[in-house]
Amino acid sequence: MSLKLFNTMGKSLQEFKPIKEGYAGFYGCGPTVYNYAHIGNLRAYVFLDILDKTLTYLGYDIKHVMNITDVGHLTGDSDDGEDKMTKTAAERHQSVLEVAKFYTDAFLKDIDALNIRRPDVICKATEHIPEMIALIQEIEKQGHTYMAGGNLYYDISTYDDYGKLANLNLDELKAGAGKRKVVVVDENKRNPGDFVLWFTKSKFEDQAMTWDSPWGRGYPGWHIECSAMSMKYLGKHFDIHTGGVDHVPVHHTNEIAQSEGSFDEAERAKGPWVNYWMHNEFLILEGGKMSKSNGKFITLQAELPAEKGFSLKAKGYEPLDYRYFLLGAHYRSPLTFSFDALEGAKNARKALVNKTVKVLKDCNSKACSEAELSEKAKGYLDSFKGDLENDLSTPQALSRIQMAIKDSELKASEILFLINKMDSVLSLSLVKEAEKASNPAADDHAGDPDAAEIDALVQQRTDAKKAKDFATADKIRNDLAARGVIIIDTPNGPTWKRQ
Ligand SMILES: [Zn+2]
Repeated sequence: MSLKLFNTMGKSLQEFKPIKEGYAGFYGCGPTVYNYAHIGNLRAYVFLDILDKTLTYLGYDIKHVMNITDVGHLTGDSDDGEDKMTKTAAERHQSVLEVAKFYTDAFLKDIDALNIRRPDVICKATEHIPEMIALIQEIEKQGHTYMAGGNLYYDISTYDDYGKLANLNLDELKAGAGKRKVVVVDENKRNPGDFVLWFTKSKFEDQAMTWDSPWGRGYPGWHIECSAMSMKYLGKHFDIHTGGVDHVPVHHTNEIAQSEGSFDEAERAKGPWVNYWMHNEFLILEGGKMSKSNGKFITLQAELPAEKGFSLKAKGYEPLDYRYFLLGAHYRSPLTFSFDALEGAKNARKALVNKTVKVLKDCNSKACSEAELSEKAKGYLDSFKGDLENDLSTPQALSRIQMAIKDSELKASEILFLINKMDSVLSLSLVKEAEKASNPAADDHAGDPDAAEIDALVQQRTDAKKAKDFATADKIRNDLAARGVIIIDTPNGPTWKRQ
């Protein structure tokens, strides 16, 4: 079999054919850092992590790029509403950059705790303004823009393929009708679906961050950052772009119009900007999409004032319980959140960890080699690969590891091999958790607020050593030492302690 992914462009399951043999470049829309991520937001990054690790599992070299939106994302998807960053900064009496740093750190802590591999490139919008300006100039050169009321707009009627991702009808959009509800608040727009590339006239007086540009001092529209940064790090044509399904009708539709709108004829002839568009469905809470405005704000681990919301941690659930809960549903299925379901995930994960404890004991923590696997064990491995290749079917992959782990015909050393291999994608830290469970005294990191972050850095050091990047490995060790954290290398891999 070969890897098949559901492509929103074309709405079908398609065989993945990379642009460059053996290499996959992909971009995922990252967070707008004006608040904590809620558990619904985090679903997108667990999905992205499964894509990342599946590609690696299948032998691809990968480059995974994610943006951090720290400027220019208005409260509405269209060009009305306030800038989310500026609004929060004003409320907190902080600078926009202070707000961005605080919530970026909180976001990274969340993804570390969920065992999500950090993307190879994490790029901030505010650090890529020149790239955005250069791209807008290319779009301008191709005749897709107009200036009105002090702002530079993208004229969607000049781009024939506008709306193809979401099956939008351009004629309807021009008239302001169609599947996408467009609220006409901006009289300067030629078509209701037009959007701003560069603002010089702010709708609110206190726009904190502005930059000089050929169109005047101002700031970028939201969509342009993803076009500019993805092309900077992945080239003008790359393999996969991901995001939540809510991005399909506006954000990704506009990203395509901008990116392909910047192409001259020769560039267009080389093919589309992005070949595969993948979108994860929502987490649903009590009949509606979880949003930050409906008063049910649930974080993974960040504590909130009681009137604002609460964390799963405060309710007794580990981040990995939540990861397990998410993996139990396919990324394209809407998933309803309930504490009953989360409790089920918690218990199922605990059962897996307990079985791993027994496996470790039975084989003295020694996995067999791949060559020593029986036909039956190989069968599990083949099926697991097939699950991943079938559009990242994590529910099947999870049940595969559950079946393998209790198969009495397999030797414990084989099972341990399978656990290690499958968990390289599922990332439930089964062996680590089992070691912790069988020797609780060894878990001296419990209660350490930085444990997940330090674990991630120690893992990065291990990866760097494996890649023979000793400079990076040494730097991580020294940086941690400067914080009073000592890495200890053991036969079971590195661990750490505080001095
Ligand atoms: Zn984006």
